[in-house]
Formats: sequence, C-alpha cells, structure tokens
Amino acid sequence: MRVLLVEDERRLAENIARSFRESAGYAVDVAVDGAQGFYLAESSAYDLILLDLNLPKLDGHTLLVRYRQGGHATPVLVLTAHEEKQSVIRLLNAGADDYVAKPFDLGELLARAKALIRRGTGQRAPVISLADLEMDTVERIVRRGHQEIALAPMEYRVLEYLAHRPRAVVSKTELLEHLYDYNWEKFSNVIEVYISGLRRKIDDSNAVKLIHTVRGHGYVLRPGASVEEARAAR
Ligand code: CA
Repeated sequence: MRVLLVEDERRLAENIARSFRESAGYAVDVAVDGAQGFYLAESSAYDLILLDLNLPKLDGHTLLVRYRQGGHATPVLVLTAHEEKQSVIRLLNAGADDYVAKPFDLGELLARAKALIRRGTGQRAPVISLADLEMDTVERIVRRGHQEIALAPMEYRVLEYLAHRPRAVVSKTELLEHLYDYNWEKFSNVIEVYISGLRRKIDDSNAVKLIHTVRGHGYVLRPGASVEEARAAR
C-alpha cells in the first residue's frame, strides 16, 4: 500500500511516515505544502491520502475539493487541529472519508487508515480469507491451513495488495506504483522475484494454487487455475 501524507509540520510528518512505514509496511510520500500535495495526489497512485488542513500554498480544504472534482476516489483522512472542529462537517461534505483531531494517537491514526484502505477496496474484515489462506492485516500474520508463513517484508506487501483485490488481475506496473514511494528506482523484474518467493512459500506444498500469472497482464490471487493455465492443461 502507498500513502500520501500532506503535512507541513515536519516533525509530525516524519513521525507519521516512520510509524506507517515501520508498523504497517506502507510506502509513504510526504508533501510539505498543499501545491506539492495536490500535484502528487493527481499524478501518482495512492491507496490513502492523509491531509492536513492548514497548509502553505494551497489549503487542505481546497485541495480536497479540487481532488474530488477531478473524479479521484482514493480515501482521504483529514488531520484537523482542535480549533478546526467546526470545519469537519464541511470537510465530510467535500468528500473526506474520515478525520482525526490533533493531537492524535499514532496507533489510532494507523487503525483508521487501515479501515479506510479496506473500505476503499471492499474488504471489510481485517482478516482476509481466500480458500485456506488467512491474511491478518492488523497483526501482519499470514497463514495457510493454520500454518504460519514467514514472509519477507516486500513479499508481505505484494500479497497484501493482491489480497485486497482477490480475483482481480493486477499488473506489474500497478504493483510497482502501489508498493514504492517516489524515491525508489522501479524495476519491474523485482516484482517477479517477490511473486516467485510468495509462490514457493504459499503454493508449492499445496494442491490448490492461489497465485497465478496472467501472461501479458499481471497476477491474480484466487483459488484454482487461471483461465490461461486451465487452457494450457487441456
Ligand atoms: Ca499545518
């Protein structure tokens, strides 16, 4: 998952970004003013936007209105200062999905963020199940047939993104866009490495395969053979 944080208080921004990277394994881009925030929100793919209101160059409310007018559906969680409480109704009416009032607990912010990301992909339950695969997105534990599986951090992130969109074909480009912040060099072959690691750990010793390649299109997480594999086996 990749999160955009628009916050001009640098220490707070650093604390939030660190917490999201370390506790959730999310990629985080930080914008320190509203203009940069709007540019990144428009030009990059995010799973969630954390938006401060009182920002230099472009205020958070205007940013939100313009972003929603552009037809973007990414969930937006607003970080309000105490004195901005009255503007909460205005924000929700402008298309914000949730808010937290400063000062907030980082654990609560992260829990709200995860809930919004789940809602954004139609996954209501914090534990995502697919056949006998269980992915606990709160504890960050993966099990197959009740057996806990140790994944490398990037393997977990790839699986988490796929598990939020079961049965949908996800391209390599989409994975790269949602798993790395803008400072990373993106090489599409790294995704193949993580997918093969996931296959080895999740599918190799199981008759029912969950991770499938749709040649030329990407990957899909679902029980049973992909259309292509079923065709090839005929
Ligand atoms: Ca501010």
